Amino acid sequence: MARTTSENSLIERDARSVWHPYAPPVASPIFGVQSAQGVRLTLTDGRELIDGMSSWWAAIHGYRHPRIEEALRHQLETLPHVMFGGLTHEPAVQLCEELVRLTPVGLERVFLSDSGSVAMEVAIKVAFQYWLAQGHPNRQKLLTVRGGYHGDTFATMAICDPVNGMHDFFRGILPDHLFAERPSCRFNEVCEDRHLADMEKQLASHSGEIAAVVLEPVVQGAGGMWFYSPAYLTRLRALCDQHKVLLIFDEIATGFGRTGELFAATHAKVSPDIMSVGKSLTGGTLSLAATLVTERVAETIGQSDPGALMHGPTFMGNPLACAAALASLDLLGQEPWQQRVQAIEKQLQVDLEPCRDLAGVEDVRVLGAIGVVELRDPVDMAVIQPAFVEQGIWIRPFGKLVYTMPPFIIGPNDLSQLTQGISRVLAQHASC
Ligand SMILES: *Cc1c(COP(=O)(O)O)cnc(C)c1O
Repeated sequence: MARTTSENSLIERDARSVWHPYAPPVASPIFGVQSAQGVRLTLTDGRELIDGMSSWWAAIHGYRHPRIEEALRHQLETLPHVMFGGLTHEPAVQLCEELVRLTPVGLERVFLSDSGSVAMEVAIKVAFQYWLAQGHPNRQKLLTVRGGYHGDTFATMAICDPVNGMHDFFRGILPDHLFAERPSCRFNEVCEDRHLADMEKQLASHSGEIAAVVLEPVVQGAGGMWFYSPAYLTRLRALCDQHKVLLIFDEIATGFGRTGELFAATHAKVSPDIMSVGKSLTGGTLSLAATLVTERVAETIGQSDPGALMHGPTFMGNPLACAAALASLDLLGQEPWQQRVQAIEKQLQVDLEPCRDLAGVEDVRVLGAIGVVELRDPVDMAVIQPAFVEQGIWIRPFGKLVYTMPPFIIGPNDLSQLTQGISRVLAQHASC
């Protein structure tokens, strides 16, 4: 009884004062969470859900990992926060060293920030400042591919997919950038000249205006959950070099093992000039992101007026967040994450394949610890969200995409419950 009352009042109070992401002022349906442990969320009404979302790609080690909590507690007792202008500290320095060591070769300088969108804003600003530093003020365009997602701030919205992003809605407010076709060669397919023809055409006709090509390597996330051939990136790197434009990789969703390699760029063995990471950087505990750049790019900016990167978040390099990130990276170094991701990939392939035969299903695709069922029509969230909860699983679709990217630590039985729940709910609702 007491539980029911507090559950009701939590939802009611939420409805009065809280605004949720991509939601009207009063979001519905909404579920109260009491606690989280491992791969399970406990709702305020006592129900347990197996988490299929890793809290938007972030909680790769599951919730409340003791090693991350221990690192946080230790940091809390010495230095929870201090400004980063003119000051430095061990957790930030060590984290930047680790990021340089782990990321593709050539990325040698790290700018810390507090969220993925800001890390992309910084990546874009670095690209523009790089060209300004060399006397090329006309290089103000970004070239990207359709189907991308890079964040919700204004500079990043402008390079999200122009159709399912917010270009129409914010017409006249967002800067105009250049879009090439989405890489259409699937992950295991051969990538040919024709797959980059549009990209090449745009590079050739606009190269004097383009500061950088920017895209998510191998996996496009929130813009469409699309997987494409790593060979596309190898060819794209060569094109960028040929046309002398910078290459920016957004690894905010893909970084730290999700696709089966530590970074998606590793599939192609390609190094970008600028790269952003975020989301799972702290193992899903605190908000932290980073932008890495090559020494050449950093030096170019440093050697000309104003001689500095013009950015500096108040909570930059937050020691607590850095300590959590170091613990998360340490876990990746010590645990067999790659075998776990491979096992998840195998099981997702087997378990989700039958969904292909359901009415209303357009495509099923799996890469690493990401499973996607693409439908022909958008889901009705008011119906489908409670249906997943009824199955004891937390799955949060958007549009036509029902997908899961569970914590790497999920076991085969819990993963079965997830995939069976997805299959059952889609069997009931996908075609309606
Ligand atoms: C989530 C995401 C972002 C934005 O990160 P936030 O932390 O939500 O600002 C940018 N790029 C990609 C690829 C993402 O998945």
